[in-house]
Amino acid sequence: MKVDKSVSANVTLSPVSGVNKTEIIAGKRVEEHECRIINLDSGFVHKLLCDGPTFSAGTACTYRCSYCYVETMLHKLPAVRAIKERTGCKFQDLVIRRKDAVRQVVKELTDAKGRPKFSDPNDHRVIFGSPLVDVAATVALADETAEICMQILELTHWQIRLLSKSHLLPRVAQAIPERYKHRVIYGVSTGTLDDELAAAFEKGTPLVSARIKSLRWLQDHGHRTFGMICPILPQRDPQRFAQKIAEAIRVENCEHVWAEVLNVRGESMARTVEALKSGGFGEAAMLLEQTTANKNTWESYARGTFEALSSVIPHDKLRFMQYVSKSTAEWWNGRPGALPLGAAAGSRSIASQTPSAAKMGTLGLPEITAELLEQGRIEREQHERELARTLPELFQRRSPFWEAVSALAFAKVLLPTWKPEGKEQLEAAERCLKLLTPDARKVAREVGQIVGDHASKRWPAEIYDEAFAD
Ligand code: SF4
Repeated sequence: MKVDKSVSANVTLSPVSGVNKTEIIAGKRVEEHECRIINLDSGFVHKLLCDGPTFSAGTACTYRCSYCYVETMLHKLPAVRAIKERTGCKFQDLVIRRKDAVRQVVKELTDAKGRPKFSDPNDHRVIFGSPLVDVAATVALADETAEICMQILELTHWQIRLLSKSHLLPRVAQAIPERYKHRVIYGVSTGTLDDELAAAFEKGTPLVSARIKSLRWLQDHGHRTFGMICPILPQRDPQRFAQKIAEAIRVENCEHVWAEVLNVRGESMARTVEALKSGGFGEAAMLLEQTTANKNTWESYARGTFEALSSVIPHDKLRFMQYVSKSTAEWWNGRPGALPLGAAAGSRSIASQTPSAAKMGTLGLPEITAELLEQGRIEREQHERELARTLPELFQRRSPFWEAVSALAFAKVLLPTWKPEGKEQLEAAERCLKLLTPDARKVAREVGQIVGDHASKRWPAEIYDEAFAD
């Protein structure tokens, strides 16, 4: 795919009060305010989209999605209230950008003497952009995102995860030099493959088909990608939907695939029903109303969608986000591919097993190991075979935290108890070993000694020897 650099930024200038000019993007008034760009300890860590840090160059998005949750989160923020009062505009009629975003990022990543604050070469945390706005809604915003990414890549050793509903991520990718290619992961989000249906409730966004095309372009050009299937409306045939969307995003090329049904946040449900009706999608609106009429039908919709997706997406790739209650947590917790969220998620959810990434990011391997052992976090209740499938991916994350987790898992769980069965599992184990860094290998050996009985006769001697060779 050739990136069309002539795509309009949809920016115009309109006279206001006959004197000043107001910038308009996609029909929305543009305002700006002073604000931090990077949040080091974001709640997005629970969704496994990052290891804590997020960045956002804006506070109100260019697009208008009926289900958007951002206004619900930010409407009480003094800066947002002040802008709304001053302009007389509603939140959804504003694009709010953050002043001097690129310069501000540099400021946040350096100390008073201009030295990088996060210079540890082993700090490979993932930073996610953006929890609040689309990172590539227009050409100008995509270029700003590319500049921010460049500063993050130059000043840290972090990896960056970018999510967009636009088709402009290839433009960002092309602005990032080859030497940083392996540190950026791109994803486009959509809960449908129907261009017209999406246009009814995601106003101002590029066609879904164009987003998918851009994702495939990134995959064809060797970029790291992930899937984001959300929000998924109730389907007459969830299995067929799952099959089609898995093919469209080319699951085999995605590192992970997040998915989510439509959640109720503020007026989101009512707005989406209304948008579907006025867009001529009466049946989809009716199905949504029926499904969300009570907790049981909504829960069946979530479970049916999850089961359909988990039949076509490998469990170690799928991260189906589901807010659970006390009464539903048991069904979701520990289910491979499910990512239960919320206070009721319990100790068996993947998210709850992830310690504070911000804290872990500041510790070295020995401290992390001690921390993990103390907290008993490695006592995972996952089946050993599932763990064997997951390990290669954990190793590849290349962060001190995940290296420690995977080394511990390898030493304490896998080696003593697991007997590889068949060629596939043996190959998975060998892949793990090849990916072990010297540090992780050291931890594995030390923990193996603590745990004892690691010289399992059930483990092929050559693999064991290789794991613990100096
Ligand atoms: S793209 Fe995301 S942030 Fe922007 S309006 Fe849609 S849901 Fe909200």
